[in-house]
Amino acid sequence: MAGLTCACYLHRAGRPVLVLEAADAVGGRVRTDVTAEGFRLDRGFQVLQTRYPEVQHLLDYGALQLHAFRSGAVIRLPDGKQTVLVNPLQQPTAAFSALTSRVGTLADKLRIASLAQHVRGATNGQLLSRHSTNALDTLTFLREYGWSEQIIENFFQPFFGGVYLDRSLSTAANFFEFVFKQFVEGDAAIPSLGMQQIPEQLAARLPAGSVQLNTRVVAIRDAAVELATGETLAAAAVVVATDGEAATRLLPAVANTPPLRWRSTTCTYFAAPAPAAQPDKLLRLNAAPNALAHNVALPCEVAPAYAPPGQQLISVSTHGEHGLPEAELTSRLLQELTAWFGSQASQWRHLRTYTIPQALPVYPAGQPARQALKLHATLYRCGDHTAYPSLNAAMASGREVAEAILSA
Ligand SMILES: Cc1cc2nc3c(=O)[nH]c(=O)nc-3n(C[C@H](O)[C@H](O)[C@H](O)COP(=O)(O)OP(=O)(O)OC[C@H]3O[C@@H](n4cnc5c(N)ncnc54)[C@H](O)[C@@H]3O)c2cc1C
Repeated sequence: MAGLTCACYLHRAGRPVLVLEAADAVGGRVRTDVTAEGFRLDRGFQVLQTRYPEVQHLLDYGALQLHAFRSGAVIRLPDGKQTVLVNPLQQPTAAFSALTSRVGTLADKLRIASLAQHVRGATNGQLLSRHSTNALDTLTFLREYGWSEQIIENFFQPFFGGVYLDRSLSTAANFFEFVFKQFVEGDAAIPSLGMQQIPEQLAARLPAGSVQLNTRVVAIRDAAVELATGETLAAAAVVVATDGEAATRLLPAVANTPPLRWRSTTCTYFAAPAPAAQPDKLLRLNAAPNALAHNVALPCEVAPAYAPPGQQLISVSTHGEHGLPEAELTSRLLQELTAWFGSQASQWRHLRTYTIPQALPVYPAGQPARQALKLHATLYRCGDHTAYPSLNAAMASGREVAEAILSA
């Protein structure tokens, strides 16, 4: 997304671009596989926040046919009971009604309303660059803000743990405020034909032949790149828009670059007959400690083409390292899901498992939300590893590099 964004802005300004992509399709971490039966499997459950500023600037939402989940979640509490929260960040006092009081106290709801008002009054840039919140991890921030352990465990950890792929909430709190604003002001959506439609839309804006797939870069020398085939290509400027790990291999050491660590996740897909009941279009979160099924999403409740007619697709995310072989994870998930959704879940058919050890770069307290993108006169880098773990960061860094090249 960072490289395609950069290429789109350069092309828009009339500069010739060539995108060299090692994989067999564009998208990097935003890919969708279509099975022979017609299920659309995103490589890891992922959503587009409709209010991300970079996304709003560049993407054509209408062409993507975005479908939003309802704001809120069904939360499975540690005792196995479920509670439904609709619009918890947009209308906290209504969402956490008497029925759901076990999720948090009245004071907790008022604090959500207060933070919602605060983030509405700040720009994304102000939130991301705030030193006081950058200095704290999210869990410490939540405790210092005064939220009860009850709402932290029953709401913040399952909800934001799903965004961070980290239920310990050790991600820097300036990113928490940024993400909180996205949920207060916008929706979480998926394109009707899968997340890969997003990078495909950008690639389609580039001239024919300007994206070369299956083309791995193995070295960079000044303003020339060497391909795995041995071929060398020269350019007026080179932008390394890989993930952080490949960038470390390809680029000279950059001063003040924080060490790269990753958040991992596993996404297990199941198929089931489509239910007759009206869909609620809500994500399902598990607050139970030690669970393996952390988040459950039913993508075709919002985007029906994710499953063939008469079928339903179930996406189950397990964040972090679980150390289980695929068959054991699947069987333990099915046990948990049967306890959660009833006996019909034991019949769900396993479709595929995606293990993604390098899903998000770790963004700890104290790490700046922007790192140097221009490395020398003709060499640049971009990608989420240069900022914070999100599509918005990848695209922002790509745009900033394009602007730097155009102004050089
Ligand atoms: C499971 C999962 C869920 C996520 N959920 C969300 C979410 O809900 N919201 C959100 O905002 N973000 C989410 N993200 C994060 C988001 O997907 C990433 O931040 C973003 O896609 C990163 O884009 P990028 O361009 O920086 O890097 P990448 O997507 O990693 O792209 C790097 C590209 O470089 C290519 N490459 C690498 N080495 C070479 C080489 N030597 N030569 C040529 N090409 C090379 C790769 O093939 C790849 O295409 C999620 C990520 C995952 C994996």
